[in-house]
Amino acid sequence: MLRLLLGYLNIAHMAMLKSGLGTKKNCLLNRSVFLLKFLSFIFLVFFFCEFLVYYFVIFQCAWPELRSTSKAHSSAPLKAMFLSDTHLLGEIRGHWFDKLRREWQMERAYQSALWLLQPDIVFILGDLFDEGKWSNPKAWENDVSRFQSMFRHPPQTELIVVVGNHDVGFHYEMTEYKLKRFEKAFNLTFEKVVTRKGISFVLVNSVALEGDGCVICRAEEDHILKVSRQLNCSRNKNQLEFGKKCGKVHLLPPSAPILLQHYPLYRASDSECTGEDSASPEEKQVQFIEKYDVLSQDASEKLLQLLQPRLILSGHTHSACTVFHGDVPEISIPSFSWRNRNNPSFIMGLITAEDFALQKCFLPTENTVIYIYSVASIMLLLSAVFQFALINTLKSFYTPKEKPV
Ligand SMILES: [Zn+2]
Repeated sequence: MLRLLLGYLNIAHMAMLKSGLGTKKNCLLNRSVFLLKFLSFIFLVFFFCEFLVYYFVIFQCAWPELRSTSKAHSSAPLKAMFLSDTHLLGEIRGHWFDKLRREWQMERAYQSALWLLQPDIVFILGDLFDEGKWSNPKAWENDVSRFQSMFRHPPQTELIVVVGNHDVGFHYEMTEYKLKRFEKAFNLTFEKVVTRKGISFVLVNSVALEGDGCVICRAEEDHILKVSRQLNCSRNKNQLEFGKKCGKVHLLPPSAPILLQHYPLYRASDSECTGEDSASPEEKQVQFIEKYDVLSQDASEKLLQLLQPRLILSGHTHSACTVFHGDVPEISIPSFSWRNRNNPSFIMGLITAEDFALQKCFLPTENTVIYIYSVASIMLLLSAVFQFALINTLKSFYTPKEKPV
């Protein structure tokens, strides 16, 4: 397409040259026309790579289809988008150009996806920020305000976030102050089970599942126990002793919940993960460290036992993976930032109380964008050299030669 465009511009330019060769006036005009074409071409390439390419690529994604027919569902499916690890750079480690580039890419990808796919709800599974664990109050305010501007959304779409280790620090760095400012910034203080269209999403602070009895850990365990009780009561609504055991419990929809957290449940490594955006062969050799790369075995078993989820979605590893815990699938969502991988993606989920279907949507790869810029730069350079040589040749050809004395 680019070659065609440049070819067209060249033909037009040649026609202009032919119409009035050699005069000083026309030479100046030709230079101006060439400069105009040159700038237009740069603008077109830039506009495509920085704006249109996101629409062009995401347009190819479609919501998945549920296995069961629509009659089998109690309500219309919920369209949910899941992404993770946006890692907005902070003031300590973030170079201004790196920040500008990555944030522009994520903003355009997110806004294009919202416009094209119109999800009902979006979940971001932690590590929204790179330096939330270190940020002073001013830097934190700045990061949150940039995040809210990039991930702005229309009123009919909800955005819900889960906390990650880069937002509040690993267990040993996490303080109540950091956790509260995160919860306040994203209005998470009251709602830890999100219920929409008969579907329960349980949001877990997986950084607090250390199991060492720390204050934050105890609060998180209490929250999980409370949700577990609510779910049990909701499932056993028709049993005899319901009133005695569950009289004051706030009931949830009876269907099994979807568990959303930052750390994946325990797995030994990514060696079993497949797909073009799974970890590299070298990374797959590395054994995971419990409570650092993944949850501990103990915490993972407890979560599965207490919540009995039908689906788990997690982030943190920056690479894709699908594993099964018994018959419960867990999807690890890769990072949404080009800083962390060449081919970021997000998951599109069509979910009802009874069923769900998931589909991955890839964003443009960074290699493609760099390739387009490189080819365009070479074409521009060659075109500039050619035009310069052509104008000089024509000038020398039509300049009257001095008569010999
Ligand atoms: Zn993380």
